[in-house]
Amino acid sequence: MEINPGLSYRSLTPSPSRSTSPPNPAHSRLYIEIEHHPHSGLKNEIIPLDSDSKAAAPQRSTGTIVPRSRHPWAPFPSRPDFEWAETMYLQPQDIIKSQLKGLHGSWNPNGTALTIQTEPQLRDLLAKARQYGVEFESDQLTEEIDAEERAFTIRFRDPWQWVLEVVTDASLADDIVWYPYRKYLVVDGAHQRLRDEAYTADLWWDMQSKLPHIPGMHHCMFPLLLWLDEGRVTSHTNMYPMLLRSLSLPSAIRNGSGNGGSFLVGFMAQIKDHRDPKTRSTAEKVDFAYRKRKIYHRVHRRVLVKSLGKRSRDGEAVVCGDKTARVLYPAIPIISADGKEADAVTATRAALAHFPCSRCLVRTDQLRDICIDGIHFDPRTTDFMRRIFEESQSMQSKRDRESHLQNHGLHAVENAFWEIENSDPYKSVSYDLLHSDDLGKFGKKIWPAIQKVLEGLKTNGLLTKYMGDVPRWPGLKHFENVTTKEMNNGQEFFDIEKSLLPCVVQLLPKKSPWVHIIRAHARYRMMLGLHCISDQQIARKEKYQAEYEKWSKQIAKRYSEYQFNFPKQHDPYHSSDDVRDKGAPSVYCTRVNEGHHQENRDSATRGNHRDNDKQVSEIDATKEAMARIRMIVDAYDKELSEELDGVAGHAGVTSAAVREAIEDLSASDDHWRYGGLGRLEDSRSAFRNVPWLPVDLRRDFDRKLRAFLRDTFNDETFRADGEEPLLIRRSSCIYIHYTSAEDYTDKIDLLRCNPHFQTHGDARFDCINVNIKDDALDFARMLCLFRCRFPSKREEDIALVRLFRPSTWKPNTVWENCRVLEDGKTVFMLPKYFIRGAHLINAFGSRKPDATFYLNDVVDSDWFLRAGN
Ligand SMILES: [Zn+2]
Repeated sequence: MEINPGLSYRSLTPSPSRSTSPPNPAHSRLYIEIEHHPHSGLKNEIIPLDSDSKAAAPQRSTGTIVPRSRHPWAPFPSRPDFEWAETMYLQPQDIIKSQLKGLHGSWNPNGTALTIQTEPQLRDLLAKARQYGVEFESDQLTEEIDAEERAFTIRFRDPWQWVLEVVTDASLADDIVWYPYRKYLVVDGAHQRLRDEAYTADLWWDMQSKLPHIPGMHHCMFPLLLWLDEGRVTSHTNMYPMLLRSLSLPSAIRNGSGNGGSFLVGFMAQIKDHRDPKTRSTAEKVDFAYRKRKIYHRVHRRVLVKSLGKRSRDGEAVVCGDKTARVLYPAIPIISADGKEADAVTATRAALAHFPCSRCLVRTDQLRDICIDGIHFDPRTTDFMRRIFEESQSMQSKRDRESHLQNHGLHAVENAFWEIENSDPYKSVSYDLLHSDDLGKFGKKIWPAIQKVLEGLKTNGLLTKYMGDVPRWPGLKHFENVTTKEMNNGQEFFDIEKSLLPCVVQLLPKKSPWVHIIRAHARYRMMLGLHCISDQQIARKEKYQAEYEKWSKQIAKRYSEYQFNFPKQHDPYHSSDDVRDKGAPSVYCTRVNEGHHQENRDSATRGNHRDNDKQVSEIDATKEAMARIRMIVDAYDKELSEELDGVAGHAGVTSAAVREAIEDLSASDDHWRYGGLGRLEDSRSAFRNVPWLPVDLRRDFDRKLRAFLRDTFNDETFRADGEEPLLIRRSSCIYIHYTSAEDYTDKIDLLRCNPHFQTHGDARFDCINVNIKDDALDFARMLCLFRCRFPSKREEDIALVRLFRPSTWKPNTVWENCRVLEDGKTVFMLPKYFIRGAHLINAFGSRKPDATFYLNDVVDSDWFLRAGN
């Protein structure tokens, strides 16, 4: 069945229940069912999502790199323990002992936050902190390039040693997922498959199914993600790092820098061209590319295959951190890399062949066909590519050999990944939202084309103005000079795309294909950006993708200068398979990894340094470990305060106020909380002189408020003559707690209702989604928020809002699921009918741009789904 996100949200009720009664799945309308892999021996599990039983499934969203269950100061039990140890660990033993005795002694009546009691406990913790120190090794490779013998030094660490550290770490034991599982959203008995992490997707399930299933011994996969990026090589850093991440750990741990976070496995050899590439003939270009690929795969063979190859086939028994013995099979089923890197991993010829895709045999003239239903391209597989390679090797004539390889876009390289089980490189390379969409399609193709088209129409100045007038929204970058700003950042392009349609639609002619292509691209991009994706959503993504294809072909037909035959255009062809096989694209998007590059360079520097000194003393290792924890703790503090500062700064309140409100909300039965409450005022005069309300409403405010209260609170008695005083306190902001339609986690909006916001004194009357009718999306603008004290002393929060109604006005081009709203009547309302904040963008270029708005349904994933996309 189709799940209406709006409806399913309402069934959760806006107010999260704090009920502690045990869940009863039989009576639940809405729950998540977990089907464990049969090898695990575990029974299916139910996670209720209904309001009645929601308390049983605590899913507090943290949004931090380190989830709350794992503190950044691990392995130290508490922050005071770490900070105390930091100042003391270099001190002599007797000083440490006497200080501990003092702190825990009877003369210290206030006690101490320190849980470390004894000096041996400290030593134990320091030893634990040191344990992630796999030594760097180096090796030499030589290869003949352009008739010149060249030597390369590679620096690397043994990946299996790191795997052992992760799986034997008791502090990670509860977080490691040993067996894959399938997740279903169940609504009224109808099952809908959900995928997020790799262990909820199909590839891992299938890998597990092929392993021996012997009672009494667990045979488990230990899949790894490999990330590499030659783009990191600059004249300054000279680095080509390769990272490994454990897919068995949830993303918050895997993408973090603490225990279980990324592991710098080594550096790829860099092969600089000693000749001018422009002077090379095609054959010489192919030869140079081939030599590079050959060394590339020799490095992978040395670093990855030597350590993991045999183990990936035969497994190795390990007693894990939970004291359970398992036979573990490492594998590299996911590679996170941009297109160029994917060509290297697969040893394919990219632009030097007629088959430019590293994953399938699409021809260059077929790159524009991405509609999944319509077409099939033969996938590359290890068996297939290996056969081509072997056939070519047995050919006598060099010419035959070369043409056989050329016909499959392959280099004569024995691919290192062929030797690691469950690590088919053509399947491992993955869809990358950052390079394929934000940069590849939107940033480098659609956005420059739009600017060019507007330049031709002489309306690009207006675009800049409109983009600068887009109302602000937390997390959405605001562009004052969008057309003049030089940009090369994927996130910025994505932010432009999110606000672009309302700004551009009236500047383009009627029924413009550009409007449709932007919309279709944004819709499939939003779908692929979900952290949790259902089967239905995959199907909808394919529909949007087909629309994108349709409009790109129409544009190509109409304008010869805009052709969509570049390799990145083809990538979405593989995106549905990637979601089904490997989980949500955020698992393998290069963006997550890129954010952590600085940290890796830092640790790499230390790593190299250590390698020079083979006699690393224990104290040096401890210093390194303590510095690493300090770095993580600092990053954690920074992230936490940046996140709060971002929200707070946007709403013009202090971080402390946000922190307090969030804590308050989580302890409250209500899903909203007013902030910035003012002094007590008499309702008869409070709003008499506020300029942003219509004159008649100002005059009538008190009478209308009393009528509303009488209607709404009929258990209260109010005097008919209105002669008793009503006291009110005005509020300038509201925190609204909602459940995300993306993944059912709890989230908070902080919205303003304020005539003089921050330094510029701009008015900020934010918009909200309100619950009026069950199957409609209704919106309102908050005009006044206040808390009212009744004559009985009871206090209630009340809001005055201006409702929006659907507008009859239509833009030049009506895009799919476009909603236009206009100002309607002004009414009192209780904030319990507020659902969450909404981003409305003015209908620039319309008759009344100050009273006509579009719903921005691509502002975030929750809105995208809530709006019925
Ligand atoms: Zn392909």
